[in-house]
Amino acid sequence: MPLFASIRTLKGVGEKRAALYEKLGIRTLWDLLCHYPRGYEDWSAPRLISDAEAGVPCCIRGWVAKAPTEYRVRKGMTLYRFRVTDGYSSLQVTLFNNPYAAAKIHRDDEILLYGTVTSDGRGTEMTSPQIATSAEAKIRPLYPLTEGLTNKMLETNVDSALEVAARVGLPECLPTDCVAQEGLCDRLTALKNIHFPTDRRALEEAKRRLVYEELFVLQLGLLRLKGRNRRQSGAVITTDRTEEYVAGLPFTLTGAQRRAIADCVADMQGDAPMSRLIQGDVGSGKTAVATGVAYTVIGAGKQVAMMAPTEILAEQHANSLQTLLGDTVRVGLLTGSLTPAKKKRLQEAIAAGEVDFVVGTHALISDKVQFADLGLVITDEQHRFGVAQRATLAAKGRNPHLMVMSATPIPRTLALILYGDLDVSVLDELPPGRQPVETYTVGEDKRDRAYGYVRKHLDEGRQGFIVCPLVEESEEMDLRSATEVFQQLRQGPFRGYTLGLLHGKMKAADKEAVMAAFAAGEIQLLVSTTVIEVGVDVPNAVIMVIENAERFGLAQLHQLRGRVGRGKHQSTCILISDNRGEDNLRRLGVMRATNDGFKIADEDLKLRGPGDFFGNRQHGLPQLKVADLLSDMPLLQRAQSRAAALLDEDPNLIRHPQLWQAVEHLFEQVGDQGLN
Ligand code: ADP
Ligand code: MG
Repeated sequence: MPLFASIRTLKGVGEKRAALYEKLGIRTLWDLLCHYPRGYEDWSAPRLISDAEAGVPCCIRGWVAKAPTEYRVRKGMTLYRFRVTDGYSSLQVTLFNNPYAAAKIHRDDEILLYGTVTSDGRGTEMTSPQIATSAEAKIRPLYPLTEGLTNKMLETNVDSALEVAARVGLPECLPTDCVAQEGLCDRLTALKNIHFPTDRRALEEAKRRLVYEELFVLQLGLLRLKGRNRRQSGAVITTDRTEEYVAGLPFTLTGAQRRAIADCVADMQGDAPMSRLIQGDVGSGKTAVATGVAYTVIGAGKQVAMMAPTEILAEQHANSLQTLLGDTVRVGLLTGSLTPAKKKRLQEAIAAGEVDFVVGTHALISDKVQFADLGLVITDEQHRFGVAQRATLAAKGRNPHLMVMSATPIPRTLALILYGDLDVSVLDELPPGRQPVETYTVGEDKRDRAYGYVRKHLDEGRQGFIVCPLVEESEEMDLRSATEVFQQLRQGPFRGYTLGLLHGKMKAADKEAVMAAFAAGEIQLLVSTTVIEVGVDVPNAVIMVIENAERFGLAQLHQLRGRVGRGKHQSTCILISDNRGEDNLRRLGVMRATNDGFKIADEDLKLRGPGDFFGNRQHGLPQLKVADLLSDMPLLQRAQSRAAALLDEDPNLIRHPQLWQAVEHLFEQVGDQGLN
C-alpha cells in the first residue's frame, strides 16, 4: 500500500524534515494524512470591516485605497501603513519591518486580510495581518507543529500526500450499508475536506465521517474485549468460602461489602466468567471486598492477580492482604523495582503455582509472568489502567474472572457504553464510626495556626500529611515544593517531631521505606506530593494540610483528602490558598460542603467541562483524534450497535482486514497509558 510508504517519498521531504515529522509521530504518508488540523482560519467568508468583532481574528476583503507609506520609527524599526476600504468603511493596516509584503501591495488591489481588528477614537485598525490575494479565499488548516516545521510545509506535504491517495484510491473500510444509511461521505473526500475544506459544510461532513469511523473502530475494539462474556468460565466456583473469610476478619463487613462479595460469588458460580466493577468512594473498603472474593477463589485451588497503579499501593495491598487472609495464603509482591534475581525467583514460583495471590504494578503484564492457574484478575483504581492492559492480564489465564475497583464515578450514560461489559456493585456505605472529614480553607497568613493545629494532633499520638504540588522549586510559580517545605518544617515549626518526605522522583525502594515507616507510626508527619493520592491507607493519620490548594483539581483534592478519615478518629483537612479566583473559591467551597465523591465528581465535570475530564486519561480508553465522547454520544450509540452487528457476522474481522488494522492501531497506544 503506497500510503504506508515513508514520508520521505514525498517531494521536498528529506532526512531533516523526516526527523521533524518523526517528533510528531509521523512516519508514513498515512500518518501524515491522519495528522488533522487543530483548527482552521476561515478565509472563505470575509466580513465587512464594520462587522468585525474587536479582539476576534477574522478575515476581511477590501481594496487598497492608498498604497503603503513607509515610516522609519527608529533604527531597526520601519512601519508600513496603508488603507483598505470595503466600500462601506475603511481600515488602517500597519506592517512592521516587512518591506517585502509592502512592496506587493498596490493601489486598487483586491486583497484579503486575516487578523484582529482594534478600534479606538481615531478609527479602525489591523496590525500585522496575514495578507493574501482574493484567489486564496478558502478555509486554511492550522496544524499542530514542532519547531522547524511550518504550517506552510505541512500544507504542501499534505497536499502531495492527498494526490497520492487520490491516485491509488482509498477503499471503503466501513460496511457499505452503514455508509449509505448514515449518509457519510467517502474516505478520500473526508480526508481532502478535513485538510482543505471547500466550505464550512464540507468540513462538517468530513468531520462527521471521521468521527463516525473513529467511534466505530473504538466500539469494535471494546466489543471484542467484551466478547469474553460469552465464553466458558475457566474457574467455576462450587464452594462459597465467604463465611470462613469473615470469621477471620478484625472487623465486621458493612452490608454493602457483604452484598458486593455475594454478587461476585454468584457470578463466579455461573458458566461465564465474572466481569464486575466494584465502585465505591474512597475509604468504602474495596480492598476487603477484593480479598473476600479472592479467598473463595484461592480456596478452589486457583491463583489471583491484583494490579495496582503505583508501587506504594501494591506494597500496601500486599501487606494488608496478608493480614486479612491469614498465613495460609501465599502472597507475592511483583513490582518493577525487584532485583532481577528476586523477580526471576518470584516468576518461577508463580508459574509453579507456589504463590496464591500475586499483587503488583503493571510489571504483572510482562510476558515473563505466567501463571499456573489464574482464576481471578483484580485491577485497583481501574481508571488508571487502559482497557487493553486489563485484557492483557486476563489473557494470562483461561477466561479468568475479572474484578475492577474504582473510586472514580463517571456519568451513567457513558459508563453503560464504555463499561457495558461490566456488572456493577456499588459500595454506598462507609465502615461504621467514620465521621466526615472536616474541611477548612484558610489563607497563607493562617499557616502558622494551621501548623499549631497539626502539632496538637501529633502530640495526641496521631499522624498527618502536608501535601505540596511540586517536587522542585520553580521560579515562575511561587509554589511551596515538597523538598523545600520539608526542610523548613523540620528546622522550624516541627522541630523535634519525626518527619518524612515522599515525592515522585524518589527511588521506589526509598518511597517504600518511607511509606512503611509512616504506616508503622515511626514517622509522625509526612510531607508529600500527590504520590499519596491513590489508595494509601493509614487509619491513624487524621490531619492533612494541602498547600497551594488552587493547583489541584476537585477530584484530586477528594482523593487526597480520602487519605485521612480512615479510622475511628475525627479527621481534618486544611486547604491553604490565597487564590481569590471565582473558580477556585467555588471548588474549595465544594470541598468544604461535602465528602461525597459522586457529588464532587459532578461538580468537577461542571467546572472543568467534559472535554477536560475525559481528555485527562481518566477513563483508560485510547486517545481519540476527532471524536468527543460526550458531545458525539448519539453517534457513539449508533456506532456501537453497528459494530455489534458486524461482529456477529465476522467476530474476528477476518473479512474486514482494514478495520482489524484500525482497531489494533487505536488500541496499541493504550499500552503506555495510566502509568502516571
Ligand atoms: P478504599 O475503598 O478507599 O480502597 P480501603 O479498602 O483501603 O478503602 O479501606 C479503608 C480502610 O477501612 C482500611 O483501613 C480498611 O482496613 C478499613 N475497613 C474496610 N472495611 C471495614 C469495615 N467493614 N469495618 C471497619 N474498617 C474497615
Ligand atoms: Mg483502595
